[in-house]
Amino acid sequence: MAPELHLLGLSTARPGPLSSAVPQPLATARWCAAQGWPVHPLAVGRKTPAGNCEACRRPGHTYSGCPCTTEGRWCHGFRAATRDADRIDRWWGGHPEFGVGVSCGPAGLVVIDIDAHRQSLPDRSRLLPGIPIPDHVDLTGLTNGFHTLAVLAALRGAPDPAADGSTLRVRTPSGGLHVWYRAPEAGAWRSSAGSGGGRALAWQVDVRAHGGYIIAPGTTTRAGAYTALGTVRRPAVLPAWLAQELERTGHLPQERPAGPKPVPPRALQAVIAAGGGRQGAFGVLSSVLAEVTACAAHTEGVGFSEKLNRASYTAGGLVSAGHLTREQAEQILQDAAAGARPGQERRAAQIIRSGMTAGSRRPLYLGRHG
Ligand SMILES: [Zn+2]
Ligand SMILES: [Zn+2]
Repeated sequence: MAPELHLLGLSTARPGPLSSAVPQPLATARWCAAQGWPVHPLAVGRKTPAGNCEACRRPGHTYSGCPCTTEGRWCHGFRAATRDADRIDRWWGGHPEFGVGVSCGPAGLVVIDIDAHRQSLPDRSRLLPGIPIPDHVDLTGLTNGFHTLAVLAALRGAPDPAADGSTLRVRTPSGGLHVWYRAPEAGAWRSSAGSGGGRALAWQVDVRAHGGYIIAPGTTTRAGAYTALGTVRRPAVLPAWLAQELERTGHLPQERPAGPKPVPPRALQAVIAAGGGRQGAFGVLSSVLAEVTACAAHTEGVGFSEKLNRASYTAGGLVSAGHLTREQAEQILQDAAAGARPGQERRAAQIIRSGMTAGSRRPLYLGRHG
């Protein structure tokens, strides 16, 4: 192992001498970039990205068409991630207290995020999405993501990824584990949809891939340190069985069609993959989105703005009721709009932002029987 990795806290050995000129976050960021992983700063002591500049915080502003990344600012979280040595030195050299996030998609990473949260068990249909667990199966003792993932691996006759000593594994401050893998094709896999339901590999097991970031080992938040286990510091290739499971659970490879997209675009496919046919946030959103995406068949006079505004209003309500995150909603709406009206991203972004802001004042709670 190279000596600088000891300084990173990336080895089990004691960290290097404190007289080292390079603070750990900068060393971590440089090390990640050297692995080919674009990095972006995290807010001091937190696991969220460093804040946007004043212009980017204004209502109605979105990342599409924003000049900040080009001009070297870290606005818009993982979208600003870079491997540029000067930029990295400037960001972490000027703010040595920032943490380090890695943008998974462009890094070609698929990270299995295993949680150990104390939560009551959900309905058994949600423990392993798509895999029915009969009523007679006793679930006593199953309490977190380590257990659901172990059960999934066992069902497939595969080794438990949490115990995969051939790849980089990072212990989180809350007792969870990040298992890092390399994707055969960079950017092909989608992240899980988050805690609001939708895509997940298993209960308390999410996937960080395209559209997401992961906290680099060596980063410390107020909750504690993200510490690499053992001695392996390189992600292994994503095991084939896990790739199959990711595909089965809707973390599908992303289409990147050139020019105007056919209907239904990526966004609608994402909604469908996330359970658009069922009741729930994605189901509700998919029905209003269908009207937006249908506009792709016509270039004029079908009320695109009004339909996008309505979908954004609905999404705003779903976000403020906690059914999906603002980030997810914006991504889905922007994808749908770009599919229907390519090249009008700026205008669409304004409609989306104002529609979501208006909708967020009317939280849209989805009852179990609604
Ligand atoms: Zn900015
Ligand atoms: Zn911006």
